[in-house]
Amino acid sequence: MTEHLMERMTWKEVEARLAAGVDAVILPIGTTEQHGPHMPLDTDCVIARSLAERVAAQAEADGLSVLVAPTLNVTLSWYHMQFPGSMRLSTPTFLEVFKEVVESLHHHGIRNVIALNGHGGNVAALTVAVNYYLEQTGRRVFLAQWWELAGDVVGTVEGPGIHAEEAETSLALAVGQRVLMDEATIEAWDRGDAVKEAGHTWSSLGKYSLVPKGPGVTVPMDMLRDITESGVVGDARRATPELGQRIIDAFVPRLVTVVRDMSETAPEA
Ligand SMILES: [Zn+2]
Repeated sequence: MTEHLMERMTWKEVEARLAAGVDAVILPIGTTEQHGPHMPLDTDCVIARSLAERVAAQAEADGLSVLVAPTLNVTLSWYHMQFPGSMRLSTPTFLEVFKEVVESLHHHGIRNVIALNGHGGNVAALTVAVNYYLEQTGRRVFLAQWWELAGDVVGTVEGPGIHAEEAETSLALAVGQRVLMDEATIEAWDRGDAVKEAGHTWSSLGKYSLVPKGPGVTVPMDMLRDITESGVVGDARRATPELGQRIIDAFVPRLVTVVRDMSETAPEA
């Protein structure tokens, strides 16, 4: 089987792949943070890297060449710090890390970089990051997120599509992450109520879901332990590997399409 993970290759192997032509490099971005009582801290890393590897394999089958960069595994989890083991970078540091990692990839002549984000807490910063990168370097990096690219599947899940709940736990099951389903629980099913109960500013028009359901205003994150003791926001007990597989089946071919589109339209490096 072809190796797609850059960190598992020798520099000679990377050199050969680059010489043969690489259509895109995918940069998986996870985090190290609590994922309820039922999943390990590396869940977002495992999901992002697993999706990236699946995209690389499918791309190869479709005649494209995709490499997978090392996963960024400590990112923006400041609002999870009340839970043991969670780790954080500050937002400005994260923006710098992103820029320097992507610059390293571009340094080697890679034309197309796709950030594949597995962590909801990174959405706002990564949206800034890819635009800031363009502002600074003139290069276009795309941002792919499973809850967006497979939004038609993820959007069918009831309740708050937030954290360690049905959709994310299903995806974790489908990619082979360690999941203790006996420990899976439901909490903060109505995130708005939970926020209000915690005594924080709240609005019935607050947008609290990764897949927005109707009109609303953007609100910041909540310090999660204020609204959930277990760390789960939603219902993890409903998770199934079948739902996770449907998310994968929607996501992978679409990101391969993005790779092909970028490859066909990108100017020469
Ligand atoms: Zn997660």
